[in-house]
Amino acid sequence: MNTESLHRWDHEFVWHPFAPMQAFREENAPIIESAEGFHLYDTDGNRYLDGISSLWCNVHGHRVPEIDEAICKQLDRVSHSTLLGLSHPPSIELARELVARVPKGLTKVFYSDSGATAVEVALKMAFQYHCQKKKNAAKRDLFVRLADAYHGDTIGAMSLGGIDLFHKVYGQLLFPTLTLPAPVTYRLPDSHTAESYLQFCDDELERVLRAEHQRIAAFIIEPLVQGAAGILVHPPGYLKRVRELTKELDIPLIADEVAVGFGRTGTLFACEQEHVVPDIMCLAKGLTGGYLPLAATLATDEIYDAFLGEPHEGRTFYHGHTFTGNPLGCAAALASLKLFDEHKLLETIAANGQRLRRNLAPLDEHPHVGEVRRKGIMVGIELVANRETKEPFAPPLRMGHQVTLAARKRGVIIRPLGDVVVLMPAPAMDGDAIDELCAVAIEAIDEAVSHLSQRERSTAKQAGEGRERR
Ligand SMILES: *Cc1c(COP(=O)(O)O)cnc(C)c1O
Repeated sequence: MNTESLHRWDHEFVWHPFAPMQAFREENAPIIESAEGFHLYDTDGNRYLDGISSLWCNVHGHRVPEIDEAICKQLDRVSHSTLLGLSHPPSIELARELVARVPKGLTKVFYSDSGATAVEVALKMAFQYHCQKKKNAAKRDLFVRLADAYHGDTIGAMSLGGIDLFHKVYGQLLFPTLTLPAPVTYRLPDSHTAESYLQFCDDELERVLRAEHQRIAAFIIEPLVQGAAGILVHPPGYLKRVRELTKELDIPLIADEVAVGFGRTGTLFACEQEHVVPDIMCLAKGLTGGYLPLAATLATDEIYDAFLGEPHEGRTFYHGHTFTGNPLGCAAALASLKLFDEHKLLETIAANGQRLRRNLAPLDEHPHVGEVRRKGIMVGIELVANRETKEPFAPPLRMGHQVTLAARKRGVIIRPLGDVVVLMPAPAMDGDAIDELCAVAIEAIDEAVSHLSQRERSTAKQAGEGRERR
């Protein structure tokens, strides 16, 4: 199969996720055939640096011998057997290893297969917990979330999300939630300074939780960084404040660590940085080192115990997917965790974070960069038409996408969130590759901007010519 026919069949048969298909079909995006380390190779033999960790999940690189071997060994035993009514060694071992590493108090592991399902599991667990817990067992059906939250694309997870571009069209299908302002200060309501706005967020948090706590089933949060919203970094102390209040008011806290988990923010889990132990924690993306679809929802004994009882009492958690806790995925995850320790990956992450900061410092002066946001090795570079007024580019310009195309020509794969250029290097990426990623990102931004001014010039000229003709 040559590249040309693959492109033809891709356009004919494949509907890509999150893709405006009409424009996408005209682009002939690279068809990735193989990978090695931090590079991807397409069917024409072009080599690309994987600047987004294959959408935020790859950890140690591609074709890592230890992970490949662990999967092959498991393949020799069994590639899938169910956790419904049976068990298998990799799921047991992995649960034990996870409990040893997550914040102390999370003791039970419920598997599924993606971030969205990990969140669905969490919200059903929290809801049913209140129906069945012993003390003051009142039904609670309200979930609290932050503005612009993202927790996945299934109906329940979307209900907890708040990104209009993705979710608005489904509004009627989603259940209502309580939305709190997110503590981010790049664009402020007129009446506020950064300081007064953060105070307002804290006050709202406290006001809403105190007023509504008896109806609140759980508070869900992306700890430290709201990823899909554009790598929005919360100020230190916010997560801790959320935990203090939810603890005081007896509201379960769900930490969605799907994006931030496995080292991305500098610690193995983001919650650690504020010494927070959530009641429920969702893991996915990096869990298997980014190899296979596997997710986990962890819970405390307090939550778990509410589901105990005689089978006929009906306290069972009736949830499970066919491929829940797939043994190949668990084997990959076990190998990945081992590499975290053996390669002292948190040290590499710390060094990579500093390297990203140094390399991207020149963008702090760039006329079309509004803000460079970074936590650990998660980076969001917000492009704007005007740095001073923070005026965004017109959406049809697709500036973030133009940067992606310019980077691709230079052999680097990145993918934006609107006009936020996201750099999401694998935690284990080597320093030279980090340098290349940053250099290309800066060049690509410059190229996209220079094309823009040409376009603007030509539109202005056309407008002028139009006037002359009239
Ligand atoms: C990606 C993501 C999800 C959804 O994970 P999928 O595996 O894509 O379903 C959920 N929550 C957060 C915070 C994410 O970044």
